[in-house]
Amino acid sequence: MGSESHDSVHIFLFPFLAHGHMIPVSDMAKLFASHGVRVTIVTTPLNATRFTQSTQSRKSSSGLIQIKAIELPSEEAGLPKGCENVDTLPPSLDLVNNLARLIQPQLEELLKEFKPTCLVADMFYPWATEAAAKFGIPRLVFHGTCFFSLCASEVMRLHKPFKNVSSETESFVIPYFPGEIELTSSQVPAFVKTNDSSGMNQLMKARKESELKSYGVIVNSFYELEPVYADYYRNELGKKAWHIGPVSLCNREIEEKSNRGKEATVDKHECLKWLDSKKADSVVYVCFGSVANFHSTQLKEIAMALEAAGQDFIWVVRRGKDEEDQDEWLPEGFEERMEGKGLIIRGWAPQVLILDHPSIGGFVTHCGWNSTMEGISAGLPMVTWPVSAEQFYNEKLVTKVLKIGVSVGTQKWIMIFGDSVKKETIVKVVSEIMVGEEAELRRSKARELGKQARRAVEVGGSSYQDFNNLIQGLKNLKSQQLG
Ligand code: UDP
Repeated sequence: MGSESHDSVHIFLFPFLAHGHMIPVSDMAKLFASHGVRVTIVTTPLNATRFTQSTQSRKSSSGLIQIKAIELPSEEAGLPKGCENVDTLPPSLDLVNNLARLIQPQLEELLKEFKPTCLVADMFYPWATEAAAKFGIPRLVFHGTCFFSLCASEVMRLHKPFKNVSSETESFVIPYFPGEIELTSSQVPAFVKTNDSSGMNQLMKARKESELKSYGVIVNSFYELEPVYADYYRNELGKKAWHIGPVSLCNREIEEKSNRGKEATVDKHECLKWLDSKKADSVVYVCFGSVANFHSTQLKEIAMALEAAGQDFIWVVRRGKDEEDQDEWLPEGFEERMEGKGLIIRGWAPQVLILDHPSIGGFVTHCGWNSTMEGISAGLPMVTWPVSAEQFYNEKLVTKVLKIGVSVGTQKWIMIFGDSVKKETIVKVVSEIMVGEEAELRRSKARELGKQARRAVEVGGSSYQDFNNLIQGLKNLKSQQLG
């Protein structure tokens, strides 16, 4: 809880409509409210319900959080009826642009009416800076990733090192960037490598310009995790930024930890009971976030690997029982053989609740930043299996800088369906994070980072202080404007 009164501050949060962007915003709302700051989340009706569920689980501060739902005339926008989230469609840029076009006038109405102290809008909405400026409101950008990846993306954009290699698989060192970080061209997001006038390139250009005119950037990370890159971002790249994470740590009770994003498809108490029956650090948790997906052949390889690795596991597979190919991805008799040893969650898992359980000993992750930050906060070593977005950069932070992860070795940035990995490789890397001397070393490093993460958000910690700096800065700005 903040000690100083912030009740004159009112923050508008305007998230992109995907779970990986909405979940940290929901946590952020709780964080702001826990410091006595009023918050309004602006979103669509379906997503508003999800925000209500996740923010109301914190009774003490939920009175400060308001949720405003904007109706989406989806048919008119060329979207299927009821489509309000990228999880109901394959993510597409048209979707993003259509949603943005529809939402802007109504957001502006709300800004005019409520005159909040600040608008925190997702990086996917470059137009939000000018929209807020019309009413004299500063705009903060939320990217949803770490300093390391923000810096790496910017350096790649500026220096294009992938142009200096002769093939997609030849590696290069990211230039003018601390840490001698190596990548291959095939791991770089496709849109970074093209110089065309495609939707994504235009969006990125607009994003860049709008960021320059924004008040600054809000980052879900903590200073001690990546000091070199936090400094690089601010001092070398000249960005104004505040680190306020890990925001997921604002969830303390079982209810809060299990009420994030979609409704879990497993009973949280059953899940905890299952975990309680296991030894400390003995269970591997496997989950690839809310967007990345795999073909049945790859899921089968994962199943065979989990069986062969011999560790207890929880595996989240985003396929329901009712889907056509429901069992194609499971080896014959797998579930019977794994009874008591492995728990498959078909659909949505209460991830933070699971990660924080003492029985969890390792995390196989696609390196989405929220998952990565949640794994770090839980003090866990990781198997890194990046698929798309900025996940290949996040992997490098985990494996090369923090040294708490082992890479599964994926080489190809792919929009949704992940690059293929064989059973033997998966068995090897899972064992590497779970057993042996090196695994113990990695685990103790991960534990230390977990402790630092907790300290960062406690009173006087680095994120706590930067949060207060942010609020104080906004207050000063407001009084200057009024004066
Ligand atoms: N998540 C969850 N249960 C699931 C899958 C994902 O709670 O079954 C949450 C996870 O805790 C994280 C978010 O969804 O907060 C996923 O965000 P991330 O950045 O890791 O990946 P993305 O989904 O954006 O690729």
